[in-house]
Amino acid sequence: MRITHWISGKPWTGTSARAGDVFDPNTGAVAHTVDFAAQSEVDEAVAAASAALPGWRDTSLAARSSVLFEFRRLLNDKRDELAGIVSAEHGKVLDDARGEVQRALEAVDFACGVPHLLKGGFSENASRGVDVYSIRQPLGVVAVISPFNFPAMVPLWFVPNAIACGNTVVLKPSEKDPSAANFLAGLWSAAGLPDGVLNVLHGDKAAVDGLLEHPDVRGVSFVGSTPIARYVYETGTRNGKRVQALGGAKNHMVVLPDADLDLAADAAVSAGFGSAGERCMAVSVVVAVGGVGDELLARISSRVEGLRVGPGRDMGPLITAAHRDKVASYLDTGVAEGARLVIDGRGHQVDGEDSGFWLGPSLFDGVRPGMSVYTDEIFGPVLSVVRAESYAEAVELINANAYGNGTAIFTNDGGAARRFQNEVEVGMVGVNVPIPVPVGYYSFGGWKDSLFGDSHAYGPDGIHFFTRTKVVTSRWLDPSHGGINLGFPRNV
Ligand code: NAD
Repeated sequence: MRITHWISGKPWTGTSARAGDVFDPNTGAVAHTVDFAAQSEVDEAVAAASAALPGWRDTSLAARSSVLFEFRRLLNDKRDELAGIVSAEHGKVLDDARGEVQRALEAVDFACGVPHLLKGGFSENASRGVDVYSIRQPLGVVAVISPFNFPAMVPLWFVPNAIACGNTVVLKPSEKDPSAANFLAGLWSAAGLPDGVLNVLHGDKAAVDGLLEHPDVRGVSFVGSTPIARYVYETGTRNGKRVQALGGAKNHMVVLPDADLDLAADAAVSAGFGSAGERCMAVSVVVAVGGVGDELLARISSRVEGLRVGPGRDMGPLITAAHRDKVASYLDTGVAEGARLVIDGRGHQVDGEDSGFWLGPSLFDGVRPGMSVYTDEIFGPVLSVVRAESYAEAVELINANAYGNGTAIFTNDGGAARRFQNEVEVGMVGVNVPIPVPVGYYSFGGWKDSLFGDSHAYGPDGIHFFTRTKVVTSRWLDPSHGGINLGFPRNV
């Protein structure tokens, strides 16, 4: 099947000059092709969003929120179908894909409350006879550019809030698993969203560059790897746009000596190998503090050996053959750099077709800062164990890392956990919770090289990002006013 753009409420009828392959990662076969937009297609999508803007911006909050509620109902009804689409193109196992859709629903739930969220402040009689109030207005046309690893959830981190706030949207999903975006666009239309309010533009760098340079695009929400996030932030802001660009991660899980080691080992394996490690909140480094290393490693190893890899098993394939090979190359690099490869995923029993993009789970011990397996975001099923003598050394390690997306501490010592949440330079912190993705009514975002810009994704920060505030100072004249006064207005 050829997957194409969705513009003005329907599939695009033109023909792109370029296209890419979309694989079934379980078999390695090409399942679809997807159009890659040229500048003229970018212009068409932005023009559709611009044309829809005046009507949507002026649509009442009541009417906007009823579209959101209807979209929420349809998404909930179709959650299994969407999870199936995600699983087929991404390769994550179905249960994991269902979890993705569940978390996406939370972001929609939040946006359904938009009439409350857009309430401004009002100060009566700020000066005599003068009232002051604030209002929030949409930015205009906004672009949402998303990564391959959450093809349903990440678009829904942004699209519901953007639409709820009265913006119109061009969504540019990952070219590796593009079908979920079209499925969502169909649901929005069925929910009554007017044509052109949400458009889906498929493509690669050319489509992204076209959006970043388009004068009618006012805001950009991006999620992807750190080098591209930095590029999108710099290019978008240079072109006068508001940009939030979420990047990559290297998430550390600290295990203190008093922790329950079985719980910690369960958590490390779940968070390290779920979705084959292709999550920005995956745990990729376990920091074993003060002598628990050998015991913790033994418990993690026995669990990793028990993981079943294959279609519908614990762990699915990686997204492409090239990515699988890149991840696998770190196993040799790590050994060459002096780390001990405790479990080599290349030898792991895989219950799938040979041509699928498989790689079993791997475990390193004796990893140290400076090794590329420690510094690089591998984004695959490779877990590293680092030994630290003390709590202070563990925190120093995390704070010296370039990334600051998520982290977790496992301990039964409330004082240590409290100190950790205060001292650690990371945007999302778990206390005995290995993947601390905030609920939909908080906001999601890392620090340092994990986020460029000052707004986090979804929740209250999302409303902030997708609106401009205006403050009105108002006086309704009555006969008591009058007279000329050239002095600076004072409040009396
Ligand atoms: P990616 O950076 O390769 O691609 C992300 C988006 O950018 C895609 O839509 C892609 O088409 C586009 N793109 C790719 N190369 C480009 C270029 N040179 N110029 C302009 N646009 C380009 O990321 P990915 O491989 O799809 O996703 C995995 C990455 O995303 C990981 O680094 C992961 O940590 C990160 N991620 C971060 C978060 C977060 O919230 N911080 C969430 C999910 C994923």
